[in-house]
Amino acid sequence: MTATETLTLLHPGDAGYDEARTVWNAMVDRHPAAIARCRSTAEVAAAVRYARANQLEIAVRCGGHSIAGLAVPEGGLMIDLTPMGAVEVDPGAKVARVQGGALLGDLDREAQKYGLATTAGNVSHTGVGGLTLGGGMGWLARQFGLACDNVISYELVTADGEVVTASATENPHLFWGLRGGGGNFGIVTEFEFRLHHIGTRAIVAAFTYPIADAFPVLRAWRDLNASAPRQATFTASLNAEQVTVGFVWVGEPGNPDALLEAFRAFGTATSETVEELSYLTLQTREDSIQGHRYRRYWKGHYFKALPDDAIRALLRNPGIGASLQAYGGAISDVPDDDSAFSHRDTLFEFVTAARWEDPADDEDRIATVRAYAATLEQYAGGAYFNMMNGDSIGRAFPPAKLARLTTLKTIWDQTNVFHLNQNIKPAG
Ligand SMILES: Cc1cc2nc3c(=O)[nH]c(=O)nc-3n(C[C@H](O)[C@H](O)[C@H](O)COP(=O)(O)OP(=O)(O)OC[C@H]3O[C@@H](n4cnc5c(N)ncnc54)[C@H](O)[C@@H]3O)c2cc1C
Repeated sequence: MTATETLTLLHPGDAGYDEARTVWNAMVDRHPAAIARCRSTAEVAAAVRYARANQLEIAVRCGGHSIAGLAVPEGGLMIDLTPMGAVEVDPGAKVARVQGGALLGDLDREAQKYGLATTAGNVSHTGVGGLTLGGGMGWLARQFGLACDNVISYELVTADGEVVTASATENPHLFWGLRGGGGNFGIVTEFEFRLHHIGTRAIVAAFTYPIADAFPVLRAWRDLNASAPRQATFTASLNAEQVTVGFVWVGEPGNPDALLEAFRAFGTATSETVEELSYLTLQTREDSIQGHRYRRYWKGHYFKALPDDAIRALLRNPGIGASLQAYGGAISDVPDDDSAFSHRDTLFEFVTAARWEDPADDEDRIATVRAYAATLEQYAGGAYFNMMNGDSIGRAFPPAKLARLTTLKTIWDQTNVFHLNQNIKPAG
């Protein structure tokens, strides 16, 4: 049997081709030479061998949420994992086996049937693949660590089309690299996740103030964050008119009354909402606003501290808007050397993002986001791998980590077969 006999390939003009090459950011409009719709690990391995035999550049698609559209090659072979979305939960062992093309919503839905969950991001149509391989931040991370901290093992197709397992005991160096090093070492066809009992309820609290009050409010919010319980993840968002601060609370015991009182002491809010909802609703409530048909651009920073001067800089020209989400808790319990993922001492993740529809606005929107992010760069201590958008890889990893990752890349993918990603280049 030749590799092609095991593959379902879509070519330009085929039914389903345009749908399969369409990803979250509507600015991405590339045309792969072929799309391999993979249904099994064997098909993924066949696709890798087929691409290499035909000198086709490889891109890997899971949820299609990469801002830069890294899942779609111009020419080349898109290895499309979306048919591999199965999730199997063992409630007794508190373990989920998740195929490499699954979406966060698939994992959350299956796990929540038993009141279980693991850390996943905030929008249900994000891919488990990209999110977990780059770290994976979500509302449970302060209690249970990042998504990558909850992976027990990975099944991976290598650049040679071989299938290997990586865990703490099998290929442990590869396991280390897969925890935050992205899609650089191969294609993950199955993740085995540790699940946690979290119940099924969540609370979202939001307090809004006029922008004129933002400085003292953000200072108070920052100071209170230092003593926040791990069930709470502090959030803030701001634009030219107003600032909203609050938190998302998940888990048991589920009573944030004391925290709500502390927020009320910040001052008189123009609006206060405390929403009790199911965990599954929490995990899907941003799905529409983060929907697929828009053109998108974002920039992000990690803040290791938020001095008053940084707050002033945030407020100087916030027209395009920004959001902050707290790290800490179990994320920073893990020693930095334990995984490729770095910057575990981050206090807040900053993101400024724009969405629009008219291509004529591209230049202006992109320039505005970049300019605002640039004013905050002096306060940044790196960036989140999964939010990098044209940033140097050195923003995600300090030099010693990058050196170790380079060695690992050289061992597992010496010719950089997997380079359409946040790329770690092999040595030489
Ligand atoms: C609306 C939205 C919300 C987000 N929310 C969060 C959040 O709450 N928390 C958070 O941490 N991040 C979040 N992100 C960022 C997200 O983690 C990254 O965009 C991530 O790359 C998305 O993964 P994906 O599988 O959907 O993307 P894709 O574009 O399909 O893949 C991105 C890259 O990941 C790699 N990849 C994907 N799957 C595999 C696999 N199985 N094997 C090998 N490589 C693979 C490939 O290199 C690919 O180029 C969000 C992004 C968006 C657009």
